[in-house]
Amino acid sequence: MNKLQVGIFDLTDCEGCELQILNLKDKLLKLAEIVDIPIWRLAKTPTDFGPFDIALIEGTPMSKDDIKLAKKIREKSKIVVAVGACAHLGGIPAAVDEKKRDKFLKEVYGENYKSTSVAAKPLSAHIHVNHFIHGCPIDLDEAERVIVDILMDKNPIPPSHPVCLECKERENPCLFLKNEPCQGPITEGGCKAVCPSNGLRCWGCQGPVKNANFGAMGKNLKRIGYKDQTENIMGAFTKPSGGVIPTDTTK
Ligand code: SF4
Ligand code: SF4
Ligand code: SF4
Repeated sequence: MNKLQVGIFDLTDCEGCELQILNLKDKLLKLAEIVDIPIWRLAKTPTDFGPFDIALIEGTPMSKDDIKLAKKIREKSKIVVAVGACAHLGGIPAAVDEKKRDKFLKEVYGENYKSTSVAAKPLSAHIHVNHFIHGCPIDLDEAERVIVDILMDKNPIPPSHPVCLECKERENPCLFLKNEPCQGPITEGGCKAVCPSNGLRCWGCQGPVKNANFGAMGKNLKRIGYKDQTENIMGAFTKPSGGVIPTDTTK
């Protein structure tokens, strides 16, 4: 039997999502009967660059080299999967106001620093993406579900409920009752509400849930005293620079 060729790639990122994939190690070893991974910079010396049946791409394309690599991977791959919030939404780099990026770079690296970065946008702003694994980092069970669906030639359907549902299932007291902000109502579930379950607010890393009511969230943030911070809070993961909203083809 010919094994499926899977490539795992990273652009600009923290590699946290790839580490999550590595955490699937026992399951990955079982998959070795049907899957070959000729290229995975984090885990092995590369052998061949395609063609790939499936390419998993982590990270934000935010340099000319990143974009060139993403296009090359797309050309060589039947299915491209954006892995994690960096690839899905543009991630933390996309939360920066592009007009201020040069100023921040000079402040951090000095006046003479010549940056090669471009505006941070989701992967889908540069190439066609077939499927997405959401989150920062990705949830292991969600990653396994999506990968298995793709291997079985099924269309992985993302959760259609908000983080709040998973939060209430865990009987957490709602942060809004303490006048603390939380993006759970407008954020897609699938992460087991890990942040509010540990007393932390949801920042929306899974991306917006279908039919998210941003207007109501804005009003509630103002009501509890975050009037001047609504854009920053709500845009932490959903304000890709250039106004690009990722097209999730699985929805
Ligand atoms: S989505 Fe989060 S964990 Fe994954 S690579 Fe980006 S910053 Fe790291
Ligand atoms: S804490 Fe956040 S996720 Fe939990 S119920 Fe309240 S708003 Fe929803
Ligand atoms: S609770 Fe919110 S910020 Fe935390 S992992 Fe889930 S979606 Fe991401």
